[in-house]
Amino acid sequence: MFCCLVKELLLIRLKERMRLLLIARDAGHGGTDPGAVANGLLEKDLTLQLALKTGTYLRTHYTCEVVYTRNKDVAVELSERARIANMVKADLFCSFHINSFNNVSKGFESYRFPGSSKALELQRNVHTEIMNILKKHKIVDRGMKEKNLAVVRKTVMPALLTEILFISNPEEARLLRSEGFLDQVAQAHAIGIAKTARLIQKINTEDKKHYL
Ligand SMILES: [Zn+2]
Repeated sequence: MFCCLVKELLLIRLKERMRLLLIARDAGHGGTDPGAVANGLLEKDLTLQLALKTGTYLRTHYTCEVVYTRNKDVAVELSERARIANMVKADLFCSFHINSFNNVSKGFESYRFPGSSKALELQRNVHTEIMNILKKHKIVDRGMKEKNLAVVRKTVMPALLTEILFISNPEEARLLRSEGFLDQVAQAHAIGIAKTARLIQKINTEDKKHYL
């Protein structure tokens, strides 16, 4: 607990000193709470993979810092997730979930807090980037929605929750099992977030050579 607090305080200092944009990544469920379970998959594993992949992509390609509400298989209360993001003064918040209902339910949907206009730009940018990828896999767009969900209500920064396909649908579960597919979806999250936060793209070392 103490070491977490020190890390959070260091991040705030870093943010103030370097004017870094902090992006909070929230992997839904974890530990004793597996979330939805179907077709040999656990929601908590997929959300963690997606959150970590998105964070890595953001850190590698843009000038920003990323904070995770969990970076391993542990249970974290909903209010604690929001507290972490608020505490480090994150600029944007994104929570990852996988839907579940029956074996024919399908598609992708995203949620913001009802009436939150500041979250609308984030939702629109991330939703559009993700659907650009999902269309290629013939995934249905269930739309940009509003809902009074704890993590989007309790976070003070623009917040979004994505429900990425249905774990209960065998066809969609097949896609969720693919590492390459998760990479594409994570990258789409990162690009939508970067657009919203107007993150500055890093020039990679190969490109740099041409400038020198
Ligand atoms: Zn969930």
